[in-house]
Amino acid sequence: MLHDIAPLTFSNVFAIKTPKDTDLVFIFKNGQPLLYRQCDQLVVPTYAVIQPQFPHSLHRATYLCSVGDTDGFLIADSEEIETENNLVLEDLPAFSLESIRFFRTIVPSWHGHMGVTANHLHMWYKTNRFCGACGSKMEPSTKERSMVCPDCGFTDYPKICPAVIVAVKNGNRLLLTKYANRAFTRYALIAGFCEIGETVEQTVHREVMEEVGLKLKNLTYYKSQPWGFSESLLFGFYADLDGDSAITLDQEELEVGQWFEREDIPADTENALSLTYTMMQAFKNGEIQ
Ligand SMILES: [Zn+2]
Repeated sequence: MLHDIAPLTFSNVFAIKTPKDTDLVFIFKNGQPLLYRQCDQLVVPTYAVIQPQFPHSLHRATYLCSVGDTDGFLIADSEEIETENNLVLEDLPAFSLESIRFFRTIVPSWHGHMGVTANHLHMWYKTNRFCGACGSKMEPSTKERSMVCPDCGFTDYPKICPAVIVAVKNGNRLLLTKYANRAFTRYALIAGFCEIGETVEQTVHREVMEEVGLKLKNLTYYKSQPWGFSESLLFGFYADLDGDSAITLDQEELEVGQWFEREDIPADTENALSLTYTMMQAFKNGEIQ
């Protein structure tokens, strides 16, 4: 999966650091990361590349996390970068704003994990510039990853939205779905965000009942995955069908809901970095009975 980067290790221990030339710098505009074209390949720009390009915004570089010896920094926000350096990001030669989905296929893949983490934190910083309680300008804490209001003391922490992915088994068959009206058109598993006041197990039962009208038993936790594309943390479960296998599709959410024999489950390599894919393949190859 995208976050599986062994033997390298990921660290998000809070620290205040100054970038070194080889560190990676993430800048986002309209949800798109700014990438650098190097030898005909798009890469995450290093601080050595960023330094001469945005000399008036370097004080904004915020340390986010590290992988091995490489630190990742965020320079937010893109409007201020453009004003301070008198430029438009789209017009920079050798740079390009790309879809966030580029992080799914970037080489090396740990740049993708760092990039998606940077996106998650970028979204939080971008939407917490002002205090939600009194409206004053927030300031970053010097002790932890939080934003603090200097006037009323309100402290806000990064938002993580818990969500579940459910692989529903029926003997040798697995329930696969396709979303309705989404850019993502491949087969997937039932998924949904946790609502306030429920456990992740209750979310599993509720989502499956809402989306396909099925009852479950033998709920088994599998693995989790940080998914910064949607500011979420995914909890993967397997469960057995309990009772009738007739599917009642929620057509606003899903276009397809279909039982697949183990051997007929499609191998979707383009999506190999997700927990959904991992769970589908673990059932297909017999790892999960
Ligand atoms: Zn306040």
